[in-house]
Amino acid sequence: MPAIRLDGKLLAQTIRTEIAARLTERVAEGKHPPGLAAILVGDNPASQVYVRNKRKACEEVGIRSWLFPLAANVPQRQLLDLIAELNANPEVHGILVQLPLPSHLDEKAVLDAVDPTIDVDCFHPENVGLLSAGFPRFYPCTPHGCVQLLRRNGIDTAGKEVVIVGRSNIVGKPLAMMLMQKRTAMNAMGGDATVTVAHSNTADLAAVCRRADILIAAVGVPGLITADMVRPGAVVLDVGMNTVNGKLVGDVAPGVAEIASALTPVPGGVGPMTIAMLLENTVRAAELLDG
Ligand code: NAP
Repeated sequence: MPAIRLDGKLLAQTIRTEIAARLTERVAEGKHPPGLAAILVGDNPASQVYVRNKRKACEEVGIRSWLFPLAANVPQRQLLDLIAELNANPEVHGILVQLPLPSHLDEKAVLDAVDPTIDVDCFHPENVGLLSAGFPRFYPCTPHGCVQLLRRNGIDTAGKEVVIVGRSNIVGKPLAMMLMQKRTAMNAMGGDATVTVAHSNTADLAAVCRRADILIAAVGVPGLITADMVRPGAVVLDVGMNTVNGKLVGDVAPGVAEIASALTPVPGGVGPMTIAMLLENTVRAAELLDG
């Protein structure tokens, strides 16, 4: 039987409707709407599309959004000054620095300059530390999107074997952190799973993947995960977003749909959930800062 499709587009729409209702209530109580400032350096077409989609999603739910486009050769000092100015602006509850940055900029220094209380991407070391310690201020957007896709489709991770392929700071590592942690009142997204993280040095990747009740591919290699690497009945999340001949494809090969019990499509799976979780974090920042 082919895998159930875990529809991230539909779920993200549901979450956005929930957020819009929360914000209508917030404004009715006389509070300010949240605001997100997006910084886009250079003219990378993919980054332009991502930022446009994020801003559109903000506006649809009632989050104010501002775009700060900077030239590809912007000096680092100018970018840091802009971030300092936005940090000090009480109307800004989230700063998004669209990655990747041009190579002359020090990405770590730039991300570290964002005030951690409005670091809605959850990249700042203070927020990474809080997440690691089990007292998250924000959940990082793509990992949180994966966890919500599982939870809201009734797939419990507690006690399950989870294998994550990929150990990046944006996806694999924080997702492993979330899924392995104890679920507590302070850490509602703790997964209580037994987590293995695989990467480019993993010996016998196929055998490691076959251990998984829940297999998550966050690699960036089209079709890397093939049907023979999946245990029959496993749940598979495909985080990969790769362009092949102008078409968006994931890290999971088409034959996996015949083996898995549930699978996220690409496009329409994890991608839209990432944006929904960015909105969630911006609202959370506003609630933490302004009540
Ligand atoms: P990344 O920083 O390039 O990390 C890729 C990871 O995959 C690394 O840990 C790397 O191992 C591992 N890897 C590479 N080749 C491998 C192989 N043959 N076997 C096993 N592991 C391998 O990428 P990322 O930022 O995490 O993104 C991963 C994918 O997710 C990309 O396609 C990206 O576009 C997509 N993405 C999607 C969303 C979304 O919203 N859907 C968000 C973010 C990223 P090493 O550490 O050993 O190098």
